[in-house]
Amino acid sequence: MLANRSETQIMTKPRSYPSAPVVLPDRTDELEPTPVEGCAGCTELAKVRDWARAGHDMTTVTDCNVLMRKHPEGH
Ligand SMILES: [Zn+2]
Repeated sequence: MLANRSETQIMTKPRSYPSAPVVLPDRTDELEPTPVEGCAGCTELAKVRDWARAGHDMTTVTDCNVLMRKHPEGH
């Protein structure tokens, strides 16, 4: 029957899967430098970084990390 034939064609149609979810690179942890103990500057940077992270201000978090990584050179 014609009806059965068209149904079979639909069934054999290849299934398409939605593309995999995009995973944003989250390298925050590995980029995170640690504040030098006893250094007021580093402690301050760590504090600001925590606040920025709480407010999802990743630009400031990155800035603090850059400054903190450079800081040990001045100790
Ligand atoms: Zn420091």
